[in-house]
Formats: sequence, C-alpha cells, structure tokens
Amino acid sequence: MNQVYLDNASTTRVSNEVKEAILPYFSDFFGNPSSVHEFGKKPKVLLEETRELIADFLKCEPSEIFFTACGTESNNTAIKGFAFNFLNSEKNHIITSNIEHPSVLETVLFLRDKFNFDVTIVKADREGRILPEQIEKAITEKTFLISVMHANNELGTINDISAISELAKSRGIFLHSDTVQSIGKMKFYLKNLGLDAASLSAHKIYGPKGIGILYLKQNRDIEKLLHGGGQERGLRSGTENIPLIAGLKKTIELLKEKIDDDIAHYTFLNNYLKSQLSEHFADGISYNSPEKNVLQNIVNIKIDYRKFKYEPEMLIVMLDLRGIAVSGGSACHSGALKPSKVLMELGLTEKEALSSIRVSFGRYNTKEDIDYFIQVLKNILLSN
Ligand code: PLP
Repeated sequence: MNQVYLDNASTTRVSNEVKEAILPYFSDFFGNPSSVHEFGKKPKVLLEETRELIADFLKCEPSEIFFTACGTESNNTAIKGFAFNFLNSEKNHIITSNIEHPSVLETVLFLRDKFNFDVTIVKADREGRILPEQIEKAITEKTFLISVMHANNELGTINDISAISELAKSRGIFLHSDTVQSIGKMKFYLKNLGLDAASLSAHKIYGPKGIGILYLKQNRDIEKLLHGGGQERGLRSGTENIPLIAGLKKTIELLKEKIDDDIAHYTFLNNYLKSQLSEHFADGISYNSPEKNVLQNIVNIKIDYRKFKYEPEMLIVMLDLRGIAVSGGSACHSGALKPSKVLMELGLTEKEALSSIRVSFGRYNTKEDIDYFIQVLKNILLSN
C-alpha cells in the first residue's frame, strides 16, 4: 500500500544529513561542553557555532539565543519567565489569543489559576487572525505581557506581529510570539518583528525532536524555570544536549540553503492540491485556511458533509487505513475524532469541524502524493 505523509505541521522526517551530523556526538565527541579539559572543547565550539549560525539566520545576536528541549519549553520559559518577574506587582495582566498552541494557553491559564494573574484571551477572527485592534482594546494600564503566535498550526494564518509589536512598544509591554510553525515556511527576521521573546522548535523543520530555541532580546532579564549548574548563561541549567544541537546546526545549514526552494515547493503543492480538489469535488470542498497571508505548507480543508455519504468523525481513520496521514481533531477513546478546538473557536459547528482536515506539505512530498490523496478521497467520498 502507498504511504503518503501529509502531516508535516505535526512533525517532519529528519534528513539523512542531520542524522549523520548527530551520531559522532554520542561517541567520538561525547564530552561535556562545560569541561575544562580537551574532551569539552569540540562540544563547546559546536554549541557556540550553532548559536552564531542561528543568530545569523534569524538576524539577531548570538547572546539572544538559548537552547531548550522543545517549543513547549520555550513557550513556558518565556511566558512564566516574564510573569514571575511581575509576581505581586501592580502590573498583573497578560493578553493572549484563543487559538494559541496549548503550551501557551495552558501556561497562561496556570498563571491565572495558581498565581492570580489577570488574563484576557482575545478571540481570533473567522480566518484565525488575531487583529491588532482587538489586542489594543484588551490592553490596560496593568498589561505587562502579550503572547500572540506568528502563524497558526491548524490554519497557517499569519499574524501581523510587527503591528502588534508597535502597540506593545508604545505601551511598554513585552511581546512574545510562538514562531514554531513559521520558521522555514516563510522568510522573516526576528529583528524586524520587534519581539522581546520567540519560541522555535527543530522537529518542524526536518531536525530532531527534543531540541528547541528560545530567542530573548538583549537585556530582557526573565526568571528561570530550571535552577542548577547555570548553563545557557544561567537561564536554562542542565548539560546541553550536544548531539541534538549538532543536528540542529545541520538543520539550519540545510534550511538556509533550501528555504527558497522549500517555499516554492509548498506553493506549487498548495496550488496543485486546490486545483485538483476543485476539479474533482467542485463546491463540495471549501477552505478554513485564509486565501491571503497564510503559510503555503498548510491547507485546512472543509468538506461539505451534506454533499457526500461518509461519516465525518471517521474520515481521518479511513484515510489512514488507505495510507494517508493528515490531521484533524484529537482522538477520543473510541478511536473516533473529537472536533478541533481551534476550528470550534473560529465558530465552526461540531459537524463542520469534524468534516475538516489539515493537509500539511513537507520538503519530501511530491505531486504524486497529492494525486494519491485525491484518488483516496474520491474513493471515500464519491463511491457510495
Ligand atoms: N507551538 C506550535 C504552534 C506548535 O505547532 C507546536 C507543535 O505542535 C508547539 C508549539 C510545540 O512544539 P514542541 O513539539 O517542540 O514542544
């Protein structure tokens, strides 16, 4: 059976070059970068070279880059780190949106419930856009932090972070953004976004799982979450994961080389998928992803369940049984799907959300993958 992976916004396959770059750091160069002796030297050089490479790619200073274990940790560190500096302060208000990744939303709710921070959750519009004017309305004298994602993981919708940054700066508020989905899928420089902090993760860009990046602008002195030996300039204790940092270095080197081709490839697949969908299903298919200001690698499709004979809650499973991996809501105990929370937040009904699927392309997908997906979808939707 054909196996087609169209769930690259969830995670990506590690490229062979990255795998090869990781291995020597388990055995040949296993030293601790904090060691004074010879064994520590190569890992230490790798650590600092990787920091410089990332800073150069994202256009920021190497001293603004910190290694973490994942995007989730970066989000937690940034948000809790700012908040813990404002414990028992007059300023106790945080703004975020209703369609953030759980590693942002749950963190902010934790701060509200356990530490009495005041939280405003701004509603995204129907396309998943978090509008600067909505953020502006939510700002009070007490706001110290805004956290808004750069691009949404289910829809691909890109937010105008620079406009939100202007607002934040003019009111003396810190701005954090989850850029886990946008890195490598669109071109941007951190210095142009005007952020105080940003979160990134290697496994969405053909790197290994378990390594993330926190960007923290110079002189933003946040509270640490991990206390210990003082690695990462005291912000993130714990012996650095040198093998995965070697993998991250190769990941960024490849991304630097391939980003233009990657984006062109996602755009080609996006246009091809949409043309095929309209040819074979006409107006039976529409899109939850917006037309403009959207990542090209993500297409959130809504199937008109009234036009076809199928069970929406079983669609992803039926695709999976035919070798196609896409995503939708989250699995419940019976193996059927619960509707996506993000789509429900946008105002879709439960049935509409269940009839929606996220297709996300990667570097290794081909036109033939789309052809197979269309063939399988026709088989499921049109065969009854
Ligand atoms: N933020 C967004 C928008 C994501 O899509 C993800 C991963 O799905 C994360 C954060 C979490 O990243 P990680 O899996 O590295 O913890």
